[in-house]
Amino acid sequence: MSRAVKRAFKYRFYPTDSQSAELARTFGCVRKVYNLALVARTEAWTLRQERINYHTTSALLTAWKKTDELAFLNEVSSVPLQQALRHLQVAFTNFFAKRARYPSFKSKKKSRRSAEYTTSAFRWRDGRLTLAKMTEPLDIVWSRPIPEGASPSTVTVSQDAAGRWFVSLLCDDVIEQVPASGMVGVDAGIDSLLTLSTGEKIVNPKHERRDRARLARVQRALAKKEKGSANRAKARRTVARVYARITDRRRDHLHKLTTRLVRENQTIVIEDLAVRNMVKNHSLARAVSDAAWRQFRTLLEYKADWYGRDLVVVDRWFPSSKLCSACGALVERMPLNVRSWTCRCGQTHDRDVNAARNILAEGLSVIACGGGVRPQRESSRMGRSSAKQENPRATKGILAL
Ligand SMILES: [Zn+2]
Repeated sequence: MSRAVKRAFKYRFYPTDSQSAELARTFGCVRKVYNLALVARTEAWTLRQERINYHTTSALLTAWKKTDELAFLNEVSSVPLQQALRHLQVAFTNFFAKRARYPSFKSKKKSRRSAEYTTSAFRWRDGRLTLAKMTEPLDIVWSRPIPEGASPSTVTVSQDAAGRWFVSLLCDDVIEQVPASGMVGVDAGIDSLLTLSTGEKIVNPKHERRDRARLARVQRALAKKEKGSANRAKARRTVARVYARITDRRRDHLHKLTTRLVRENQTIVIEDLAVRNMVKNHSLARAVSDAAWRQFRTLLEYKADWYGRDLVVVDRWFPSSKLCSACGALVERMPLNVRSWTCRCGQTHDRDVNAARNILAEGLSVIACGGGVRPQRESSRMGRSSAKQENPRATKGILAL
């Protein structure tokens, strides 16, 4: 079996001076239009209890462009501006469906600098990409090939806090779905990134410990710099660079890992860790491992879907580390510093491997009870699911993932 999917391919590129100026202008206009439309929609809602839609804001954009103070919006391609209005529409749809918070303004310093182009606003010829209002194609570093004969339907250009430029091409691709026989349970940790029910421990990417220490150091240095000073701006770029290196390496690591897991296994069981976000722990290690876990789950979800695998997410309150995976006995206490323990039945367990085995067993029983349905993104413990629905914070945590 094969499956048609939309797949994004992201690359670095190096703009010419005129291209980077054009893109900086475009980012500014995208932000301006997004914020103006947000004001219009907020006023309509608070003053008149009226929900205005994409088409209304699109008509407003046409009117704004005719005024003297907003005439500069005509200087850039109109497509990224229209796309910004579509993104705002999506943000409002999510808000009204209670999946997200009220949309917030885009800030010059903190928001992602990006612009989205649809087919009418770029030219794709012989593997060269030229954006609207530009004469030369982008100088893209093709770090991996896009599918043979594919042509992008949407192109997103962005610049990160470290000043690097990226272009993401959304292409049609075909995935061959080859059945796999394996089943695996995955436990998330801090010491080792993940532990599998097979006993395998997956550690953090090489150099991550050193990079984290460096990140903590440059963040302390940044905190000491005077606000608004040139030194502070410089320190901020250093922090962004170190952070970018950590996230790049981690993304790479998680991509390889999730691809391997879905290739080898038909059933993958993970734990829902949304509850962790409610625990007060602001350590850097915690923040990084939580971010890694969210990313791991996101990648796993779409890859499991692509490859036709069953991804089961088990209950957050399932006592995975307190159960003996050999005899099923429940121990009362299992402090975090206990790395291995021996059950009354005589079995000695590595804490994390035991937890991963319990997660797998729990997932398999869910599949058996569910009669073949995929409980993806849903709670597994039937008896508790109704009680959990009443906890809005917990429910929101799942949906936000
Ligand atoms: Zn036991």
